[in-house]
Amino acid sequence: MARYTGSVCRLCRRENLKLFLKGDRCYSDKCGFDRRGYPPGQHGQRRGRKMSDYGIQLREKQKIKRMYGLTEKQFHLFFKRADRQRGVTGTNLLVMLERRLDNVVYRLGFVNSRSQGRHLVRHNHFRVNDKKVNIPSYIIQEGDVIQPKNKKLQIITDAMEAVVRRGIPQWLDLDKEEFKGSVKSLPVREDLTMPMQEQLIVELYSK
Ligand code: SF4
Repeated sequence: MARYTGSVCRLCRRENLKLFLKGDRCYSDKCGFDRRGYPPGQHGQRRGRKMSDYGIQLREKQKIKRMYGLTEKQFHLFFKRADRQRGVTGTNLLVMLERRLDNVVYRLGFVNSRSQGRHLVRHNHFRVNDKKVNIPSYIIQEGDVIQPKNKKLQIITDAMEAVVRRGIPQWLDLDKEEFKGSVKSLPVREDLTMPMQEQLIVELYSK
């Protein structure tokens, strides 16, 4: 499936959850979900039918895929990688998604959303351990140091001011003066606070 180019607020309304895809707007009173918290479309305000098990699993997969801004193909590839690792596949999947570079720059507050992170990573705006990395799906390791190439880039300085609202997760460390983020430890399932039922994705892909 090609990249989604429609309204991202529709995605939050469809998943019945704020996915925080639009940066500052998500915290303002312009948030589409806060204003119209029912599913999009002509029949959005009708009382929905009871969902089948398949429907519930599908919605969970779509929610997490959309939260991290991946296409179906990219998401499925991540799932296969997670399945090959030792441990619980669902947890492996979430932890790996969390370790993507576009997510890490978002978590560190260098950008306002994962999509902005992906855009800037692709355009060579970040360095990992002093080396240029322009692959949004790059998986960071413990001890990695992430820095923007240009500390004065307006988009980054603006995002750094706004990060106070979100806070930095425990597994990351940020030196605000130096614009320097580091990975204290790899994330664990407990670090991910959004409501996610990864087991449903495993069940969906096992069919
Ligand atoms: Fe979702 Fe953000 Fe749009 Fe609100 S403003 S509906 S949280 S993308």
